[in-house]
Amino acid sequence: MSKGNIGVTSDNIFPVIKKFLYSDHEIFLRELISNAVDATTKLKTLSSVGEAKGDLGDLRVRVVIDKAKKTLTVSDHGIGMTAEEVDKFINQIAFSGAEEFLNQYKDKTEAIIGHFGLGFYSAFMVSKKVEIFSQSYKEDAKAVHWSCSGDPEYTMEETIKAERGTDIVLHIDDEFSQYLEDATIEGLLKKYCKFLPVEIAFGKKKEWKDGKEVELDEENIINDINPAWTRKPADLTEEDYKTFYHELYPMQFDEPLFHIHLNVDYPFNLTGILYFPKIKSNLDVHRNKIQLYCNQVYVTDEVENIVPEYLTLLHGVIDSPDIPLNVSRSYLQSDNNVKKISGYITKKVADKLAELYKADKDDFAKKWDDIKMFIQFGMLTDEKFYEKAVNFALLKNLDGRYSTLEEYKDQVRDKQVDKDGNLVLLYTNDPDAHYTYIERAKAKGYDVLLMDGELDVHCMSQAEQKNEKLRFVRIDSDTIENLIKKEDTAKDTYSDEQKEGLRKAFEAQLPSAEDKLKYTVTCEAAAADALPVFLTQNEFMRRMKEMAAHQQGMMNFYGNMPDSYNLVINTAHPLIQDLVNKETSEQVQEEVEKDGKKETVEKTVYKLADEDERLKQLIDIALLAGGQLKGEALAKFVNRSVELL
Ligand code: ADP
Repeated sequence: MSKGNIGVTSDNIFPVIKKFLYSDHEIFLRELISNAVDATTKLKTLSSVGEAKGDLGDLRVRVVIDKAKKTLTVSDHGIGMTAEEVDKFINQIAFSGAEEFLNQYKDKTEAIIGHFGLGFYSAFMVSKKVEIFSQSYKEDAKAVHWSCSGDPEYTMEETIKAERGTDIVLHIDDEFSQYLEDATIEGLLKKYCKFLPVEIAFGKKKEWKDGKEVELDEENIINDINPAWTRKPADLTEEDYKTFYHELYPMQFDEPLFHIHLNVDYPFNLTGILYFPKIKSNLDVHRNKIQLYCNQVYVTDEVENIVPEYLTLLHGVIDSPDIPLNVSRSYLQSDNNVKKISGYITKKVADKLAELYKADKDDFAKKWDDIKMFIQFGMLTDEKFYEKAVNFALLKNLDGRYSTLEEYKDQVRDKQVDKDGNLVLLYTNDPDAHYTYIERAKAKGYDVLLMDGELDVHCMSQAEQKNEKLRFVRIDSDTIENLIKKEDTAKDTYSDEQKEGLRKAFEAQLPSAEDKLKYTVTCEAAAADALPVFLTQNEFMRRMKEMAAHQQGMMNFYGNMPDSYNLVINTAHPLIQDLVNKETSEQVQEEVEKDGKKETVEKTVYKLADEDERLKQLIDIALLAGGQLKGEALAKFVNRSVELL
């Protein structure tokens, strides 16, 4: 038997491990099982090149809890270690300047583990004593027993071990007794080991029989050793991809829309499968995340720094031995491999979507509503993605017809170019509320788009920036004649004073003081067959408010503004003409300043007499058509209508 001190230059590494690694202590299991799997894979490799002789036998890795002894054991039948190897790999933790290093990485526990071969030592996070029993595959090697109780002192002696491989025995600390619970360990194994390439056995399979859970003779295997992403796309059916999706997310019942199988070996290694889920709204976005693996070992589902944010809307797995997993997050972002990986995934996703669009436009259109949020998010945040996506991003009109922006421009160019050469695209976000406006537009032969998505407003602004002379206007933001101005529109024959009289008369009849702030009354010669009075809402102001709803800071200025509308009196309408005809005029004296001198001038003022009820009725009709008449005002309107009849 030999004794010695573990070769770290720092006096005692164990308090450091316990203290700094405390927050993430469950990863000890991942580290030990990874070592066991590595040892097994190495043995298989050696055997395949003839360096390990004979039949390899049972290669399962086993995890066993002994409640009486308070131990947790991880056993493998891998290459094992000789006494010299234990000395080299376990006793001499091979890095210099440990103290300096530990100080530098105080908060970056992951950087210590793994990167500097502390994987095995993470066992001390939860154990008061750790033992190794190992029998190397090498001929004539003696088995070795190593033991250490959480101080730099260890003991090492020869032992007898019947089978090749290594048992790591953890004597679990009392304060970590949860790691002696079957449920805890099974949970951790499912989290970290679900797709490891060597079978991991934990206890026996259980079955429900006559209302009782009974143990079967068969071992309970935790993992799928050939997960779909490690296989060739040619060997997989649609069904296989779907089955794997549900293996990844057991709680997800929706089927994915389609998938992308990633496979690169140059200039970096990366495999994986990304799935497009149905994305309905922001709400269910982050329920199932992309999982990141390193050689089939689960690492994290926090992939924000590895793929662009919009790609985090996708589901699936990415496996790469080239992503530096054990370094800090800020470092990840600046890592060149990570940048390349991100660029590669973006390109792959865009190419796949383009391919799907080309292959079957109708089918793509059917899926559009479910993937639109993802594509729009990508276009808004990633220029490279935008360039590709603009060729398959779709617009939907009120008849349910889908087209790309370019196609749509061609469809409406004939009719919807205004006198200044702007192509005006009309849209609604609420066809029911905008019904009367839509009818007016259709009567003129115009087309109307449905833009009711969460990101539509942003995408329209983006399209306007990228396309000269292209404007989107919501159907209720002005009279249709003004939205697409052709030659200079018809003028009415009234004087400004007459219109002012009209305006004041209507203003006086607005339902409440609050409404007087909300509605600005204007006169406009729209069309004889349009409504006599109607509402419009300025496109710019409304859009700013909508965007502000999603943003902070500067934009909040707009967010805090009250909603405001124009109440437009259509002077071209016969009913309004009739009102104007009933105006009475009066001459009044008014003092004005002219060239610095005060002067009295004569002015004609028009007034509308005794038309209160009719004005109220006209205003209410406008509010009703604009979806703004509610509550008491609506009840009054109904009663007044009955009385008028
Ligand atoms: P890392 O796995 O990052 O190299 P570890 O501290 O976990 O660091 O392990 C150090 C070394 O000890 C391994 O590289 C391996 O050579 C050896 N080792 C650890 N566990 C086993 C095992 N179960 N079987 C064989 N060798 C092992």
